Amino acid sequence: MSDKSTSSKAPAATATETPQVSSPPRKIYPIVKYGDPILEKPGALVQKFDAELEELAEDMFASMYAAQGVGLAAPQIGKGMRFAVVDVTGGKNPEAKIVLANPEVTHAEGEVREEEGCLSVPGFRGYVVRPQFVTVKAQNVKGEPFEIRGENLLARAFCHEIDHLNGILFLQHLGMLKRDMIKRKIKKLKKQGEW
Ligand SMILES: [Zn+2]
Repeated sequence: MSDKSTSSKAPAATATETPQVSSPPRKIYPIVKYGDPILEKPGALVQKFDAELEELAEDMFASMYAAQGVGLAAPQIGKGMRFAVVDVTGGKNPEAKIVLANPEVTHAEGEVREEEGCLSVPGFRGYVVRPQFVTVKAQNVKGEPFEIRGENLLARAFCHEIDHLNGILFLQHLGMLKRDMIKRKIKKLKKQGEW
């Protein structure tokens, strides 16, 4: 999910900086845009919880922060798996980093209508009704099961990312007129080679 802010902060790392020993340089994945079929396919269950998955999680956080998002799902970096990362603080609080492997919403309550965007649909936003509270059952990066409750933006981020793992984009939750307008604009951008 994309952040609400439009801060034009430059990326933190520059070529002249020496990377810290404790945090190796991360792979920044390009983000797949709307139109790529991988975004509309359900992901496969994560079954292998190894060092590679831990690397992937950290690279996904780095890629998400670089794109100023608050959530990133594996299909958005071209990987068809049920794996996502969420951090609604945008990297400000390390405790807020959440890795979701094979997540499922087990309980939802209330409704909030709020504007939403997606890193795979850059430049477009729309109002989407989401639950105010959700409980999500998932596995962490080591494969250990856990349950987490989210409220408001966190609940929205969970629902948005879990949608991605089911091949669903926020566009599908918009009214037909708004959705068609966005799709038309994207088609035009594609024709101009700007998408
Ligand atoms: Zn998204």
